[in-house]
Amino acid sequence: MPAEPPVPSPPSPSTPPDPFGWIDEEARRRERSGLVRTLRPRPAYSTLLDLASNDYLGLTHHPVTTGAAADAARRWGAGATGSRLVTGSTALHAELERELAGFCGFEAALVLSSGYAANLAALTALTARGSLVVSDAANHASIVDGCRLSRAETVVVPHADPEAVDKTLETYGGSRALAVSDSVFSVDGDAAPLARLAEVCRTRGAALLVDDAHGLGVLGDGGRGAVHAAGLAGDPGTVVTVTLSKSLGSQGGAVLGPARVIGQLVNTARSFIFDTGLAPAAAGAALASLRLLREDPSLAVRARAVANALHRGLTGAGLTAVRPDAAVVSVRAPSPDAAVRWAADCRAAGLVVGCFRPPSVPDGVSRIRLTARADLTDAQVATALATIIATAPPGAKARPA
Ligand code: PMP
Repeated sequence: MPAEPPVPSPPSPSTPPDPFGWIDEEARRRERSGLVRTLRPRPAYSTLLDLASNDYLGLTHHPVTTGAAADAARRWGAGATGSRLVTGSTALHAELERELAGFCGFEAALVLSSGYAANLAALTALTARGSLVVSDAANHASIVDGCRLSRAETVVVPHADPEAVDKTLETYGGSRALAVSDSVFSVDGDAAPLARLAEVCRTRGAALLVDDAHGLGVLGDGGRGAVHAAGLAGDPGTVVTVTLSKSLGSQGGAVLGPARVIGQLVNTARSFIFDTGLAPAAAGAALASLRLLREDPSLAVRARAVANALHRGLTGAGLTAVRPDAAVVSVRAPSPDAAVRWAADCRAAGLVVGCFRPPSVPDGVSRIRLTARADLTDAQVATALATIIATAPPGAKARPA
């Protein structure tokens, strides 16, 4: 006989049921599997060597960038005061949009409060219930969430597989199809086959949305991004999202594309319309960084060179690292615990590295992740390599060095 299900005990009138009891249960489960996340404030004036931030060009502390943030706050206020369509648009926002679009080779741009909001905006404004979105399996969480919010039918295709995108689009008979991909994937730092994806989309009459968060400032001529590098600047069927929080050392996001696409977003994208505009200080800082990058194209070259030097040093020591296509260098760890310990040992030795483990990594492979920065000296790169290699856990080396 099947076991009787347990009979829930009636709530006692003196102790009402705990509405958050389930949270304790989940927290215990996380603790048992070593997957607890905690917040740790970053020291303001760090003596630590930082290979975990997304400040790829080292501009977040540049005096021109921080000065522009301060000037913008004094001139326009500490906050945007309202949504962009009401009081939240300043001359700085307009200038940033014009210069960002011009730099990357697109007709128009729209600045939002984050890259996350930019992806939600593009995905929801360019699709509708019943339309099709084809999304790479390794896309960033903000794309995944944008797909969910869009209410379009979302087909997730294998990672970096334009032929799978083609097959999916081929069988779709409706309108408003859109393929979406990161340009550089945030976990492993590998690049998407953008030129082929664009070709597939063009043939099938689909739009292509590229999240160039990790490409802007690092890839393409003078850091114009992966989309520019793939020859897709100004492509009438391509839309790009970027963040202002990585190479541009600020905060915020933007969507770039044809003017009619940007107009559609202004009129329909809820994460734009119902969100307070980007703070003027962030817009001013991003604009200053963009001008620094435009004046010094070597910044992008240096960020890539540092990434390649890190990769060479790590693989030379027998560690397993993915060849970087941009500034992200991903190194395999044998287990989530080993990754956490490895990152902690690096930190104890004065080096901050990122630690990726499930559930952030859907393939279940834990990694430590390094980000190259244009302002790292050769001596700092050598120190970082020595620390990572000396603290590598047993099992991290595929072969003895
Ligand atoms: N897309 C990608 C690929 C990212 O890595 C990130 C940031 N981690 C975002 C979008 C979100 O950008 P933001 O942090 O500006 O919201």
